[in-house]
Amino acid sequence: MSDQGTLLIRSRRTVLPGGVTEAAVFVRDGRVELIGGYDLRLDADRAVDLGDLPLLPGVVDSHVHVNEPGRTAWEGFATATRAALAGGVTTICDMPLNSSPVTTTVDALRAKTAAAAGQCAVDVAFWGGAVPGNADSIGPLLDAGVVGFKCFLIDSGLPEFPPLSREELRSAMAAIAESGAPMIVHAEDPSQVTTPAGASYDAFVASRPPIAERRAIETVISAAAFSGARAHIVHLAAGECAALISSAKAAGIALSAETCPHYLFFAAEEVPPGHTEFKCCPPVRYAVNREALWRALGDGAIDGVVSDHSPCAPSLKGLTEAGGAGGDFRTAWGGISSLQLGLSVVWSVARRRGFSLADVSRWMSALPASLAGLPTKGRIAVGGDADFVAFDPDVAWAVRGAELLHKHHVTPYDGRTLTGRVTRVWLGGAEVTPYDPPRGRLLARGGGPLAG
Ligand SMILES: [Zn+2]
Repeated sequence: MSDQGTLLIRSRRTVLPGGVTEAAVFVRDGRVELIGGYDLRLDADRAVDLGDLPLLPGVVDSHVHVNEPGRTAWEGFATATRAALAGGVTTICDMPLNSSPVTTTVDALRAKTAAAAGQCAVDVAFWGGAVPGNADSIGPLLDAGVVGFKCFLIDSGLPEFPPLSREELRSAMAAIAESGAPMIVHAEDPSQVTTPAGASYDAFVASRPPIAERRAIETVISAAAFSGARAHIVHLAAGECAALISSAKAAGIALSAETCPHYLFFAAEEVPPGHTEFKCCPPVRYAVNREALWRALGDGAIDGVVSDHSPCAPSLKGLTEAGGAGGDFRTAWGGISSLQLGLSVVWSVARRRGFSLADVSRWMSALPASLAGLPTKGRIAVGGDADFVAFDPDVAWAVRGAELLHKHHVTPYDGRTLTGRVTRVWLGGAEVTPYDPPRGRLLARGGGPLAG
């Protein structure tokens, strides 16, 4: 549902694929038709001059757990997509778990799209799931429009979404190789993970060490080399794996990797006892590891940054809606809530480290769009969707969990001061707010509409 008519939007700091520049972007019927100099003169139905306020492509968050249908009490399409919009995210890709049913069959995908239809404030695409025994569903799910497949190599926490063995990973990747769709992998090796030796956060971190990630990534690289399929490591937390990933890329293996805002922002040293809003798998590691992750982003070993927004009811973390310190890291459900905050979180740190808005946009818009096979998303370019964000890069503001539009208010960012805030958002050429009637579309791989 693109906006009919024309829009001319100018900014002296327009983030284009080639860098940040003065530009005017002319939009017709929801698509970018022309990009010219800042003083470009063209008649348009609507004209916007942002002056020095940066104009970015909408963020594409390819790692969001919406959980509807079935666990809508954790997060649903209406709340998740409104929060996304408020944070400058104009496209999300929904994970195949933790909804019920999990998206491992075409029927389950139909249940998803039926639940999502009509309530999405931003565009939404869907990952399928690869689990033991669903080989017959892989082709039909691709035909039905999933953007690729997610699998685990370790217990996912959900019995209905079990992990793949090495052999199953190879055959699932062989089955999708020809399509070009990626296999995205939760890469922790169960043989390297133990039961935490105590209730402390340090004990939890020690139970899921970097070598668990390294061993699993070796398994993924081997399967990618065997099958020729594109592989992607989700939520990389162990910075020491960067060299392994770079080596595989240099050897010509189709591999990419993402990390998440929480691994780039927090460090284990600062996690207070009982604050299970910080719990996720793999865990937020120590400050020295965070340095390695930033280096890996800088040198391209890590390609992108996405939220892994994965909320649950606060009671499952041993917390109340107000948060608190009542959680137990051994038993709390894992997952960090941050969909609305990702762009500001990453920019807050990136700017101090000398990165530009073009870098952040490449990590958070271009890479996720390319991973999910959405060619009209993720960059401001002729022919692309007119999904834009006006972003004030200098304003400092304090996060108040209770003011976020996520279904639940618990987030480790509560009370933190961030720099940079989304001020306006356009979706398909129309300026939108979280409070407007939802106008997001359901997308298939390739960017076309998902058949209902
Ligand atoms: Zn996830």
